[in-house]
Amino acid sequence: MISPRSLITASAAFTLFAFPVWAQLTRTAEVKDIPLRDGVHMFMGAGGNLAVSVGDDGVVIVDTQFAEMVDRITNAVKGISDKPITYALNTHWHFDHTGGNEGFGKAGVRIVAQENTFKRMASKQVIAALNMNFDPSPRAALPDITFVDRATLHYNGLTIRMVYLPDAHTDTDAMYIFEEANVIHTGDTYTRVTYPFVDTSSGGTLRGMIAARKAVLAASNAETKIIPGHGSLSNIEELGASVAMLEEMEKRTTAAIRAGKSLEDFLAENPTADFDATYAPRADQGKVFATRAYEDLIRFEKK
Ligand SMILES: [Zn+2]
Repeated sequence: MISPRSLITASAAFTLFAFPVWAQLTRTAEVKDIPLRDGVHMFMGAGGNLAVSVGDDGVVIVDTQFAEMVDRITNAVKGISDKPITYALNTHWHFDHTGGNEGFGKAGVRIVAQENTFKRMASKQVIAALNMNFDPSPRAALPDITFVDRATLHYNGLTIRMVYLPDAHTDTDAMYIFEEANVIHTGDTYTRVTYPFVDTSSGGTLRGMIAARKAVLAASNAETKIIPGHGSLSNIEELGASVAMLEEMEKRTTAAIRAGKSLEDFLAENPTADFDATYAPRADQGKVFATRAYEDLIRFEKK
């Protein structure tokens, strides 16, 4: 799926942009099992976080990390269930969330995703910000079942809502709500305590990402366990704070663009200064995010 060459260029891009969200170039890691509620677990490993539901019907997983992680995920599932994995739900098309699809697909797991995830995986893709190129995925990696706006899976006594979040991190994002367990997997529309990555080359927009996080907030309460695309388990308080930050940054960036300020003028104001302590573990990340926000939002100002 990814050539060695694109990995090398990706490393260069990481050095330039240094997004912790994208720092998962290591494709193997131990799977850490975090039991949540009502048979729903969070798995952390390499790549995006998993949600796992185990129960009488079998096992459902959300996201598949990398090809190299399929055996490790399967073994970790065996540690909490003697039933097979029936469904894998993808949060979006990115390689660090769908890389295990082919292995699970060949093992008979049915893959479910929002329709645009199928469309993007079935054709050539780029992630421009990382200078990465992708060939179409093999059949076994592609979703078997897709939905446009919403779908519901009734499984393990849970109502699992699948909700499309348009034009956010990408144009393929879905959140998965395990209603009775009060657990939500947000995919990469939310990454805990880092600035977000809006993949504009996959149809993402900052305003869509704000709307996506508000949709997660609207489906949450004080007890909700929120599984972010990357990073440790989160909650409504942290998510709410991140929405306020994104809304303020959207306001500052739009104001600068409408005042005719160049990107350099905008960056010279250090527009993320009051948020960097929370969202920028590395010093350059505020500047990278402000640059991305400016380049994203100016697209909608040009006539
Ligand atoms: Zn992603």
